[in-house]
Amino acid sequence: MAKIIAMMNQKGGVGKTTSTINLAACLAVAEKKTLVIDLDPQGNGSISLGLDASQHTECNIYHAMIGQASIKNAIYQTELPYLHICPSDNNLSGAEIELVSLFARESKLKMAFEPVMDDYDYILIDCPPSLGLLTVNALNAADSFIVPMQTEYLAMEGLAQLLNTVRLIKNSLNPNLKMDGILLTMYDGRSSLHKQVTGEIRKHFGEKVFEAVIPRNVKLAECPSFGKPIILYDIESKGSEAYLALAKELILKEREAQGLPELPVEET
Ligand code: ADP
Ligand code: MG
Repeated sequence: MAKIIAMMNQKGGVGKTTSTINLAACLAVAEKKTLVIDLDPQGNGSISLGLDASQHTECNIYHAMIGQASIKNAIYQTELPYLHICPSDNNLSGAEIELVSLFARESKLKMAFEPVMDDYDYILIDCPPSLGLLTVNALNAADSFIVPMQTEYLAMEGLAQLLNTVRLIKNSLNPNLKMDGILLTMYDGRSSLHKQVTGEIRKHFGEKVFEAVIPRNVKLAECPSFGKPIILYDIESKGSEAYLALAKELILKEREAQGLPELPVEET
């Protein structure tokens, strides 16, 4: 059964899409079968993984959610053998309104996933920058969520609202929803503000903050225009290093949660 993780933060530009596709690519190179769901009508994740919008106008996540197509027909291969994507396009912005009148409107994504639950180890959902019905669908379908957060002034602003939405979903739809953690993004080690904000977030959330921190790295900003995740664009970059560390941390945390023994330490 796939573990479903929603990458969410109602703020835009905090690194949700970058983190979704690059974490997914790192899980895929660790031979975890991974599916990225692009749930943002802007379709940045789809483009960043090399998909051309004209390729999927007839069959993407929008069609799967409104029941016009099986998700199996809306999944596309990426350059990495273990990484697939279910893309989105502008149609999805209308879905938020169309879904309102449908029965079980909060469960459309969960229902759409059913045919592929056994095909993947991980399904990563790139959420849009809002707490609307699309994000509610993501949180209802997910086992857990990750909150990418920029290490800037006012980073935690909006977090209370985000956690309130999570609480409502846990109370009404998905009681088992868990937080994997907060992911610090676009970190600049030379900035005293970044250090200070990071310290505050760690003090506040303790172990709920991933040890892996994503640095501000120009290669991470460049790779979407080549339609490649960072590990295919520049494996030696700080960005690659950080997302590989995050994938490792996530896999190890999960082994620990399942009570599996620790992996043997690698010889270096
Ligand atoms: P979101 O999906 O939350 O809106 P994005 O992942 O699209 O955020 O990131 C916003 C912008 O910042 C994009 O142009 C992206 O390329 C850039 N970016 C994201 N993470 C980094 C990083 N660690 N270093 C440099 N640029 C980044
Ligand atoms: Mg995005």
